[in-house]
Amino acid sequence: MSNKLKWIQDELHNLQNSGLYNRIRTISSPQGAWLVVDGKKVLNFCSNNYLGLANHPQVVAAAAKAVETFGVGPAAVRTIAGTTDLHMQLESRLAKFKGVEAAITFQSGFNANIAAIPALVGKDDAIFSDELNHASIIDGCRLAGARIVRYAHCDPQDLERAFHDERGKYGRALVVTDGVFSMDGDVAPLDKIYEVSKKHDAILMVDDAHGEGVLGKGGRGIVDHFGLHGKVDVEIGTLSKAFGVVGGVVAGNPLVVEWLRQRGRPFLFSSAMTAPDTAACLAALDILEASTELVDKLWENTKFFKAELQRLGFNTGQSVTPITPIMLGEAPVAQQFSRELFENGVFAMAIGFPTVPRGKARIRVMISAAHAKSDLEQGLAVFNLVGKKLGVIN
Ligand SMILES: *Cc1c(COP(=O)(O)O)cnc(C)c1O
Repeated sequence: MSNKLKWIQDELHNLQNSGLYNRIRTISSPQGAWLVVDGKKVLNFCSNNYLGLANHPQVVAAAAKAVETFGVGPAAVRTIAGTTDLHMQLESRLAKFKGVEAAITFQSGFNANIAAIPALVGKDDAIFSDELNHASIIDGCRLAGARIVRYAHCDPQDLERAFHDERGKYGRALVVTDGVFSMDGDVAPLDKIYEVSKKHDAILMVDDAHGEGVLGKGGRGIVDHFGLHGKVDVEIGTLSKAFGVVGGVVAGNPLVVEWLRQRGRPFLFSSAMTAPDTAACLAALDILEASTELVDKLWENTKFFKAELQRLGFNTGQSVTPITPIMLGEAPVAQQFSRELFENGVFAMAIGFPTVPRGKARIRVMISAAHAKSDLEQGLAVFNLVGKKLGVIN
């Protein structure tokens, strides 16, 4: 056998030796506060199922009904034969929910970024991007072929500096930021970023993947949280987190949406969201619009859990949202922490490079409205036990 793939073996060994090898656990139950993972029933602290909608009876029933009506696969891309009534309904309902004029859906949030960024800017243009933006934003920026100018994390003054340095070097400008940063749980100062973007006549885009269903009135997202309605040109969203299903969305200015129907490559070249997924998202919207109960519960759980972790002595970083990192430093420590948690019936994965910078490995705890108070208390007891055993807390 030739040696041309041996480098992969070497790379995999390196990952194993540095504690960065992904060992993937297998789930054999629906999503919820408790999961069956690798055959064991454990308390779940790592899903993005913020509101518990992934297995909500109303959402599940809507998906089942859509299967009966439309079958399973879309059999085409949206522009050929893949657009159903359900897609059209979902897009107008999402626009209304977000308080914008138009929306277009994609198969995932990742695809929404890959579609939107290259459609808006090209090689003569510049993208001003927060240094900790999500990988799908980074890949969208690379695909656009525009000049990528990184500014310091959540720092509008550094964004201003970047505009100053780049003056005269680009045609169009796009400013792009995560709304809630997915690994730290901090929130972009979107009001100040808007001011800088406006001053420089830049298109403003925010990725609200972890803000929808979480921030703003009844989970309407970061734009609502800051009262910036009508001021943000492009909002990226996912239907895979708080919505509990799978899919992505671009919402905002109708010109952008119309342009993506013509030029969003994953819209034109990858098959449509399936009917059951689309119907499930519509049911999730019904629930979100009917009451703020789940969003309120999510925040109540978040405040309790975070305060208790801090009281125990854990460092939860900059988080102000349900994403609660427990900062541990080196990757092998985080991996050991996760293994010990699992042995004690708690499922929370370690996160290391390249998802977070080197030396900033952590356990990322995800809080959900699906957790009962007793689940949170039980989880805290295990975090306390493992934290003491590994000398992370006293
Ligand atoms: C999770 C996430 C995505 C990807 O969403 P999917 O629907 O899972 O593809 C995009 N952007 C951010 C900021 C995310 O956190």
